[in-house]
Amino acid sequence: METTAALTTPAPAAATASEGGARPPKKKQAVLEVISKTRLTPRLLRVTLGGEMYSELNRNHQADAYVKLLIADPSTGLQPPYYLDALRENTPELLPVRRTYTVRHWDDDARTLDLDFVLHGHGEDSGVAARWADEALPGDRIALMGAGGGYTPEVDAASHLLIGDHASVPAIAASLEVMDAQATGLVLLHLDHEDDALELARPDGIELRWVIGEREQLLQAVAALDLTALDGLQVFCHAERGLTKQLRRVLVKDAGVPREQISISAYWALGRLEDQFQAEKREPIGKIDE
Ligand SMILES: Cc1cc2nc3c(=O)[nH]c(=O)nc-3n(C[C@H](O)[C@H](O)[C@H](O)COP(=O)(O)OP(=O)(O)OC[C@H]3O[C@@H](n4cnc5c(N)ncnc54)[C@H](O)[C@@H]3O)c2cc1C
Repeated sequence: METTAALTTPAPAAATASEGGARPPKKKQAVLEVISKTRLTPRLLRVTLGGEMYSELNRNHQADAYVKLLIADPSTGLQPPYYLDALRENTPELLPVRRTYTVRHWDDDARTLDLDFVLHGHGEDSGVAARWADEALPGDRIALMGAGGGYTPEVDAASHLLIGDHASVPAIAASLEVMDAQATGLVLLHLDHEDDALELARPDGIELRWVIGEREQLLQAVAALDLTALDGLQVFCHAERGLTKQLRRVLVKDAGVPREQISISAYWALGRLEDQFQAEKREPIGKIDE
């Protein structure tokens, strides 16, 4: 692993920030600094963030806790925290984009957290957040909101099934770490590239299978499981939207797993910026449940 050493850059005064109006942000923003970067695999990059404002985050203890990052286009000159309401009213074209990332580790003592970014695409095909992470330097500042989250492995689940793709590796890795040592089950994780597979600490009774290649192979791997006899199965299933919809059908309709035993949602959608993907959650195309 290659780690970039920390720099200690003093944070600029907070409110050079906000241009676009005088009202302070309504939702709390924690402005944190990049402490270090660690390359976990060719396309998975850990960014450790920290600073005095760590305690402004609404600490969420679920295993899949996630934060929203606010990323302004550097050409706007805006600095965090952002006065979002004023920007929305006066200069909506300057609004920072929002991107969602799992908190892979919280360290309340050091007041740092780790986010693991999939470096998807190249150049213009990449995303704002993936590019931000790739180019970030120790001392760079970023605004975070949250955290949300809703899944933690249950101690009394008879068995666990965790299904995901590259974007949900951090949430699944964090979940495996908090599982009961006696837990049993299976993890099925899709990756485009074999060299992005990494060792995930987990209980002895949890099998980890990487599914490499076409996305649909993940669907086939799940369809091939016999889940009918598994009373008390707890499922975590989060991946690309089209695939997640198909996985829901296999799990609920075909295998008969009770819906309430499944944590399921899309983490991203092919051909959609996250802004559009989130907005579409209110439309039929964005719904995972039929
Ligand atoms: C609760 C939650 C937790 C998440 N946790 C993580 C996490 O820990 N790590 C992580 O990397 N992602 C995570 N994601 C997914 C992440 O939010 C999206 O991938 C997001 O779109 C990335 O933003 P971007 O600016 O890089 O790309 P965008 O600007 O949103 O998208 C640009 C283009 O890239 C494509 N794209 C987006 N993501 C991917 C991808 N993963 N693989 C291939 N193509 C992609 C889009 O379809 C679009 O065409 C999470 C999502 C949710 C909802």
